[in-house]
Amino acid sequence: MPSNPLLRQIPKVDELLRQPALLQQQYHHSVLLQAVRAELDSLRAKLIAGECNEVPSTECLSNAVLARANCLSTMSLRRVINATGIVLHTNLGRAPLSKSALQAVYDAASGYSTLEYDAEKGARGNRGEHIEPLLCELTGAQAAMAVNNNAAAILLTLSTLANNREIIVSRGELVEIGDSFRVPDIMEQSGGRLVEVGATNKTHLRDYVNAITDQTAVFLKVHTSNYKIIGFSGDVPLTELAKLGKQRNIPVVYDLGSGALLDEHAYPISIEPTVPQALRDGADIVTFSGDKLLGGPQAGIIVGSAECINRMKRSPLARALRLDKLSLAALEATLHLYRDPVQACKEIPALRMLFADIATLTEKAQLLCQKILDNCPGYTVEVVRQQRQAGGGSLPAQVFPTAAVAIAPYKITVTQLEQKLRAFETPIIARISENRLLLDVSTIDEHEFDLVAQGVANAL
Ligand SMILES: *Cc1c(COP(=O)(O)O)cnc(C)c1O
Repeated sequence: MPSNPLLRQIPKVDELLRQPALLQQQYHHSVLLQAVRAELDSLRAKLIAGECNEVPSTECLSNAVLARANCLSTMSLRRVINATGIVLHTNLGRAPLSKSALQAVYDAASGYSTLEYDAEKGARGNRGEHIEPLLCELTGAQAAMAVNNNAAAILLTLSTLANNREIIVSRGELVEIGDSFRVPDIMEQSGGRLVEVGATNKTHLRDYVNAITDQTAVFLKVHTSNYKIIGFSGDVPLTELAKLGKQRNIPVVYDLGSGALLDEHAYPISIEPTVPQALRDGADIVTFSGDKLLGGPQAGIIVGSAECINRMKRSPLARALRLDKLSLAALEATLHLYRDPVQACKEIPALRMLFADIATLTEKAQLLCQKILDNCPGYTVEVVRQQRQAGGGSLPAQVFPTAAVAIAPYKITVTQLEQKLRAFETPIIARISENRLLLDVSTIDEHEFDLVAQGVANAL
């Protein structure tokens, strides 16, 4: 083996660990040990590969070790500042929770709770009871339950209703919901057999009629939430499919994806389809996410016919997919807010951010712009009008006007600026457009402005 004489100059692990610079730090021994080993391994690899032709000083190595130890000690799952303007950003955790939902999580998590306890009777209770009456009251459904997420809601629904029998679905609705999860794969996992009807762009009622056999268990309708087919296209309206379902005694399941809980007119802008409307249009079961337009925790909500939902509640899968107490607490608190729609739109952060008007956003952007200019004199920083989308597969055809702060760096490139902002302890996630960095204020809270302005100054 050709030995590299430099390799013999690499300090021993113990030697480096004894450096005062390392000993003075608060890190746990196991963290320092891991950092030292990683740093020395990396140095060895670089020397062997010829990417480095001297062994750095012990001081230099100690600093590198401290940087690694710092990295190992920070939370991997941590807060970021969302400057993208996408309110329901799936990669950034979708909907932030309202204050009352946070309080409910805190209360449920920090002590014991009535999770499955009926304090009045002093006997065992049911965890579904916390949310079912509220969901029924708000949507007009007969029955309701919540599971881990909407994918789980579809799985539980289809495995209960279809169980080895056929699920009829339009080809135009076999959607991929992101990160290559496809609705058809979930359907197959349920044990039901998928029967695709129609063409990608058009499906007629007769396509459903012709596909019915004695094995048909469910008509499934999927809201194509992350895209829209435009031009020569058409699907069968829910009302018609529901009518056929009633005639042939086949339940209609509607996967709404991003469920708007309130009636259309309760929102400041036109939002559809809504959960109450889908039920009125005759869907037997409607499923939707808790952390999209609802603005609550991750959850999958199932509302509709009591007969169907009671069967789901008894399924062994219901236990496997059930919601944990923290999400349940956040969901109940969020649902309470919906009793007053005006309050819901103000206090649920996702709704407040989505419906913020352009005048307010422009004012907000001017505030951030001034803070950045104060910190970075001499730079070209200005407020610009932009368009944004809701994200999270919600309202795909809708764009919202927004205001952003645009920054043109000159000592570094705009790509470097974007990377540096991401590298902070609290990463700032921004967008690049036409060689400028854009900070969309619709998703930045005002109390984060100082942090953003300082971050930008440090990066520039
Ligand atoms: C988002 C979405 C899902 C998945 O919901 P999760 O809560 O993320 O599991 C399923 N179907 C549709 C139509 C969606 O938009």
